[in-house]
Amino acid sequence: ATMPPLLSAIANAGRHGVLVKSAVVMEQLGQIDAVALDKTGTLTEGIPYVTDLRPLAGSGVSEEELLRLAAAAEHPSEHPLARAVVDAARARDLDLPVAEDFASAPGTGVTATVGGHRVAVGSPARLLNGRTDHPAAAAAARLEDEGRTAVLVEVDGAPLGVLGIADRLREEAAATVAALTDLTGATPALVTGDNPRAAARLAHEVGITDVRAGLLPQDKVAAVRELEQAGRKVLVVGDGVNDAPALAAAHTGIAMGRAGSDLALETADAVVVRDELATVPTVVALSRRARRLVA
Ligand code: ADP
Ligand code: MG
Repeated sequence: ATMPPLLSAIANAGRHGVLVKSAVVMEQLGQIDAVALDKTGTLTEGIPYVTDLRPLAGSGVSEEELLRLAAAAEHPSEHPLARAVVDAARARDLDLPVAEDFASAPGTGVTATVGGHRVAVGSPARLLNGRTDHPAAAAAARLEDEGRTAVLVEVDGAPLGVLGIADRLREEAAATVAALTDLTGATPALVTGDNPRAAARLAHEVGITDVRAGLLPQDKVAAVRELEQAGRKVLVVGDGVNDAPALAAAHTGIAMGRAGSDLALETADAVVVRDELATVPTVVALSRRARRLVA
């Protein structure tokens, strides 16, 4: 027997390194007419690395002490930024004190008790919470203007310093954005938890004009709903725990597999197993072809 078009399309997607979880999903992919892309791990490689260690003047800590505390608190976290911080500490052979009472807040950061002190590591905007006149806010803004993700380190509520973190843009990011624009007739939106400065800079590099930054997981869902209310069928592409609610809310959700969180891979309708972002427009086109054969 000849294979039904949607099943051949699933096999074909598999050859491109994309796991499409069902024939229904294979069909839905061809209906999408709007796309929302996550930044870290989706448009970027998702292998961030620490570039700057900036203790605040008068904080009394060295670069290494700042890094040691941050890495101790980040140690239990799965977040790519946490791995970057821990790797930087390992690269310097720093001994990490044990962290207790670890907690993480998606889109914000982590907290843990280290040596009897409460350490917080995360988004400067969220941790400073309006204290825009604090020297830490200026230190973070300087890094963000260079396209870095700035991470604030606080001890017992007092800012100690900031770390700068960078992540390479995927080689195929701009071409993928262009292909998705061709397929849907609309430029994809960028939906990210990262800071507006770094987001705007990256968006400009890949040809995205609709930039939504500083988003919490539920804000990403709201962005999807807003596009839906405009009558669109939305494809969300993401990788993080913070993307899972938006992947679930979307008409179709695709997770990036290599660095993707387990929750994102389970929630998504399809998974880019081979880590090539350019296969996203490819599977949309495969779906459209299969749908024409079915009809
Ligand atoms: P994105 O949407 O770009 O994938 P996330 O929502 O995962 O980003 O993270 C958004 C922001 O939250 C980060 O830029 C960072 O400021 C902060 N953040 C989240 N988790 C952590 C962590 N483990 N360590 C430091 N900062 C974090
Ligand atoms: Mg991400």
